[in-house]
Amino acid sequence: MTARIIDGKAFAEKVRAHVAEDVLAVKSKYGITPGLAVVIVGEDPASQVYVRSKVKQTAEAGMNSFHFEMPSDTPEAALIAKVQELNADPRVNGILVQLPLPKHMNEATVIETIVPEKDVDGFHVINTGLLAIGDKKAMVPCTPLGCLMMLQETLGDLSGKKAVVVGRSNIVGKPMAQLLLNANCTVTIAHSRTADLKAEVMAADIVVAAVGRPEMVPGSWLKKGATVIDVGINRIPAPELGEGKNRLVGDVDFASAAEVAGAITPVPGGVGPMTIACLLRNTVTATCRQNRIDL
Ligand code: NDP
Repeated sequence: MTARIIDGKAFAEKVRAHVAEDVLAVKSKYGITPGLAVVIVGEDPASQVYVRSKVKQTAEAGMNSFHFEMPSDTPEAALIAKVQELNADPRVNGILVQLPLPKHMNEATVIETIVPEKDVDGFHVINTGLLAIGDKKAMVPCTPLGCLMMLQETLGDLSGKKAVVVGRSNIVGKPMAQLLLNANCTVTIAHSRTADLKAEVMAADIVVAAVGRPEMVPGSWLKKGATVIDVGINRIPAPELGEGKNRLVGDVDFASAAEVAGAITPVPGGVGPMTIACLLRNTVTATCRQNRIDL
């Protein structure tokens, strides 16, 4: 293996420690404790795991954590009423509604109910628009923000680099591309209709894979020395670990990619831990903005 491994777990620990220092400063100087409210509807096991981690890490950072569980048959109007209550609650600086929502709900309607200033997931169209025009007031979606931070930590200034983002979802691919553009990269967004994905990946100094297809980007597609950020989280059968066992892999074939890349994030232990760290960071940012605090 030649690539440097980008240790997202260690980096996320540093970010969380920094957040905890900021929380302490906001508390001691202004008497304000940042608060994050997480709302989960239904019993999706993966979502339950994420929400438990978010609640735990929020408390560990010294913030107030408000956690609401609603049954899967909750009417959309009841969820909207809960969001409106949190919008009006001064103890709550950040609101996160865990996605996906049950099928009878319209996710966009629910997300648009969150006041943009408390939208710490950065999914509200106002924040999407602010990010698109390069306005620093945007609340930036946590996963792409974590990816950008890891890229800047690894490469320093990103100006002039060629970046390809594979995937164009509203929560990862598109905001990732906007962030890279704002950081002065030359950005290509690839997707399922891209004519020659290999050629697009091969031309890039930075590859961000956010597809949801296990190990689809092989090392042979990469430019020598490229920096690879693997957002994918895919569970695949792992009979070698025992009957019925699974393991997590990314969208990049780690073994072959690590022979060609200059640096690469592992799965697990890469992008994943940074997502919650950035959520905590966004909550502190939201608290400071709401109270006109300059740390
Ligand atoms: P989506 O399913 O919403 O989007 C996937 C994107 O990949 C789409 O734009 C799709 O293109 C594109 N795509 C699908 N197949 C191909 C293909 N063969 N070639 C090129 N592009 C393709 O997924 P998300 O963006 O929500 O998530 C992507 C991955 O990241 C998932 O594995 C998810 O689990 C993971 N994830 C990880 C997070 C973390 O914290 N680490 C957080 C969020 C997501 P098209 O638009 O044309 O359909």
